[in-house]
Amino acid sequence: MRIDLHLHTTASDGLLEPAAVMQAARAAGVGVVSITDHDAVDGLEEARSAAAAARLTLIPGVELSAYWGRVEFHILGYFFDPESGALRAFLQNTREARHRRLHAMLSRLQAMGMAIPADDVFGRARNGNVGRPHLARALIERGFVTSADEAFDRYLGTDKPAYVPRADVSVGAAIRVIREAGGIAALAHPGLYSRDEAISDLVREGLEAIEVYHPQHAFGRAARYRRLARRLNLLVTGGSDFHGAAKGDHAATIGVPSLPESEFDRLWAAAEARGALRGLVRCAS
Ligand code: AMP
Ligand code: ZN
Ligand code: FE
Ligand code: FE
Repeated sequence: MRIDLHLHTTASDGLLEPAAVMQAARAAGVGVVSITDHDAVDGLEEARSAAAAARLTLIPGVELSAYWGRVEFHILGYFFDPESGALRAFLQNTREARHRRLHAMLSRLQAMGMAIPADDVFGRARNGNVGRPHLARALIERGFVTSADEAFDRYLGTDKPAYVPRADVSVGAAIRVIREAGGIAALAHPGLYSRDEAISDLVREGLEAIEVYHPQHAFGRAARYRRLARRLNLLVTGGSDFHGAAKGDHAATIGVPSLPESEFDRLWAAAEARGALRGLVRCAS
């Protein structure tokens, strides 16, 4: 049985609806899942009945964008209370910041001769939860670029001409809101940043886990982060970072890599010990 704790849906920048992701997970032999949309928990409610029908254990999850100085990190949250008022307020603020940021990026593109109506981009996002991938899709459809990779390489990636940082959220604030909601905070895909010197800072801020298993953690990175987790006494998470596309930009295969069951057992036990299961039951697959 595979375990995939990193999945995106149309509640952020994924291409499949939450229910469709649950069905795809079951078809791929996955038994435990977490939907970790960027700065959103809307997908969780929608996925519940599909997860139950597919006999999947569905763990509450989220992936928050946050800054450590000028460096952007993604902080995963698990086993939190989705009804937490602090978390809801945080996500509402984030959505407004994403809204402002999109308009700022559109102004920059317009100054470079690429006029894109805001509605075109917002029309691609659910509940106003807009991100750079939605903007990349609009750039492709209007013929300004031919792929999402090209959109990021030329315009949208960090420090590219149309990039606008969203430095209003610190990593400490992201970790705190997850913990305040009763959850476990994990650093997503540390191998993508090559900023391991930040990890001890994050642990001081309340980080309890790191994502060891991720498609971009080949070439011995998974082993390196497994050792780091052991040394710092951190829990271990992992998943596919699936966004819906089987190939092309940002491709990932659902359930690959899978989090080893022994690591999931430790996460589950930690959640149970702090009363964070809230009626969650582990489906026997
Ligand atoms: P945002 O949430 O608006 O900051 O957009 C960041 C998201 O864009 C990431 O989480 C990825 O899903 C996606 N992304 C980053 N780089 C690329 C790329 N080169 N090609 C396609 N998608 C990307
Ligand atoms: Zn994404
Ligand atoms: Fe991420
Ligand atoms: Fe992700």
